[in-house]
Amino acid sequence: MIDASKLTEEFGCLVFNDKIMRERLPKDIYKAVHKTIEKGTHLELDVANTVAAVMKEWAIENGATHFTHWFQPMTGLTAEKHDSFISPTGDGSVLMEFSGKELVKGEPDASSFPSGGLRATFEARGYTAWDPSSPAFIKDGSLYIPTAFCSYGGEALDKKTPLLRSMDALSKEAVKVLNLLGYKDVARVDTTIGSEQEYFLIDKDFYKQRKDLLFTGRTLIGAPASKGQEMEDHYFGVIKPKVSAYMHDLDEELWKLGIPAKTKHNEVAPSQHELAPVFETANVAVDHNQLTMEVMKKVADKHNYACLLHEKPFEGINGSGKHNNWSVCTDTGMNLLDPGKTPAENIPFLVFLTAVIAAVDEYAPILRLSVASAGNDHRLGGNEAPPAIVSIFVGDELAQVIKSVEEGTAYHSVAKVQMGMGADVLPHFTKDNTDRNRTSPFAFTGNKFEFRMPGSAVSVANANIVLNTAVAEILTRLYEKLSKYSETELKDKVLEVLQEELKEHKRVLFNGNGYSDEWVAEAEKRGLPNLKSLPEAMPYWIKDESINLFTKHKIFTEEEIRSRYDILLENYSKSIHIEALTMEEMVRKDLTEGIISYEKDLTSEILQKKSVLEGAYGKLESGILKELDEASEKMGQALAKLTEDTKAAEEKADLLEQASFYKEQILTDMDEVRKYADKAEALVPDKYLSYPTYGQMLFSLR
Ligand code: ADP
Ligand code: MG
Repeated sequence: MIDASKLTEEFGCLVFNDKIMRERLPKDIYKAVHKTIEKGTHLELDVANTVAAVMKEWAIENGATHFTHWFQPMTGLTAEKHDSFISPTGDGSVLMEFSGKELVKGEPDASSFPSGGLRATFEARGYTAWDPSSPAFIKDGSLYIPTAFCSYGGEALDKKTPLLRSMDALSKEAVKVLNLLGYKDVARVDTTIGSEQEYFLIDKDFYKQRKDLLFTGRTLIGAPASKGQEMEDHYFGVIKPKVSAYMHDLDEELWKLGIPAKTKHNEVAPSQHELAPVFETANVAVDHNQLTMEVMKKVADKHNYACLLHEKPFEGINGSGKHNNWSVCTDTGMNLLDPGKTPAENIPFLVFLTAVIAAVDEYAPILRLSVASAGNDHRLGGNEAPPAIVSIFVGDELAQVIKSVEEGTAYHSVAKVQMGMGADVLPHFTKDNTDRNRTSPFAFTGNKFEFRMPGSAVSVANANIVLNTAVAEILTRLYEKLSKYSETELKDKVLEVLQEELKEHKRVLFNGNGYSDEWVAEAEKRGLPNLKSLPEAMPYWIKDESINLFTKHKIFTEEEIRSRYDILLENYSKSIHIEALTMEEMVRKDLTEGIISYEKDLTSEILQKKSVLEGAYGKLESGILKELDEASEKMGQALAKLTEDTKAAEEKADLLEQASFYKEQILTDMDEVRKYADKAEALVPDKYLSYPTYGQMLFSLR
């Protein structure tokens, strides 16, 4: 276990961070690197050469023999290819070499990564380019260099490039507005993100025995256990000793990598947990979340667990999400979403609050789309996660502030209420002005917004790309409206302009229960989109509004947008296709084998009983046999339909039509198979099954 007294030294010990750079780089080189990080200026080759030499020395001291350009292709995972530092000298010995060129640029073969038609297979060349704003680190004997990934033609093939572009766009527009409002010393704003990560832990041996978990990450069949989450005894419950040991180990590994893991607790579902880090700059936070997911799995393996990151690993209990806490902070240290003591007079706050409200309303469909995946579609709207309708919770106090701006009336702040708990020994404190609302997909939480729709398995890059860009667009519009006025006029005009925006977009505000049916009806009345699945949301990605938004702010070219459309649809269809095949295999082989063995035993038991015991009924046994026979008969029919439809799905040429077919037909077929498979499984004793049941998987962790 980590020595608590050494933690401050050990934190980030595997990271080539700012402290190491300051200590080891010549002063002018350090300054040049910083200028590149802060202003995005070009890095000269001689600077890169010096950085590379120092980096190599540091990496070797820390046990690295290799280096790798680490990038995030459109698979949503990370990719790496390792080169050793060795360079033969000709006399049988080697030198350890690493040049500036090798640091700055890599040339992986791009032909086997998803490109959505951006690159013909004969054009195999791709480039990776060093991102100096995210620090390099050491893992498993290699120096990892965070990089952006693009095609030979310069089109982005990854998630980092557009994220960086969106951060720049937001910064540019925010600075313009802030300068206009009199905050002249602001030169840059940063998006900050803290992403709370949910996950499940199950016994590794169980995991290995289930083809569905191995191939698809979620269970495709499985009768529910007698106990679920109804006792509400897991959330924040005592952490079991073995799980606690895992969490300690996980924290330690993350801390070494400079990832500020902060909070850990049990979640709502049995065997479900959460980890939240301290927030960081968006780009670094996204890299760190990708690493966190990887380290979670690796440490789990060491502890004989499997870590499940899928959004819906088990039917009937909560799935996992990844809350994306988001704010904007100036280089002068001002959190633009911090209301302060007098929110109604805090102009920058009101401007940014309004910009977020307008952005979320205007671009709701693509915000919804930014979190769409085959996995996450099972979660949204399932009464455990926000619905697929995007709305904003601001709480009572802020709702009053917004109302006063919208109506041009004065706002009187509510006095802070003292909280007394009825026992003298307990401390007194002031009550928050607003309660929480867990059912809202986009909630204001004090000094930031929490976007709760992202799924646990996906990179949060997409969500933040859309959010940053949409807010940048609204800020552009606000600037256009405001820049017409003189400095003295501005004071009154700001509120007028915000009034206009709020009138137009207040329909997106909703403080009530987002899980209720009434909200679904109310949202429809308000004209808010309710896009239940990826195929339903996908057409919005290539509408003019979306193409204009992204091309105007130079986040994507039109080709890049269209390529991402293809990739998302393909990925969706492929995921469900694999699920269908896996389900067929598991049901036809594993479950059927269990059913047959049990039926055989039942049959011979009934026959034997009747042969030795005159007048024996064998009613219990024959009753089970009959039920099992009926269920398996229907299961077989449903399976035949699934097989047939899966073949038909493969034939579909149009990507959207194909994805819709997987959604409408294949998932329905799978539900039907599951209905009878689960019925049959519930009748078969565990010992006849070659895979573990829900009860075993969810309740056996110590
Ligand atoms: P809550 O429990 O209300 O969600 P926490 O303080 O636990 O609030 O924060 C949850 C997450 O939000 C953490 O990852 C935290 O670092 C992050 N967070 C806090 N402030 C900001 C901010 N200004 N920008 C982005 N994320 C933030
Ligand atoms: Mg939270």
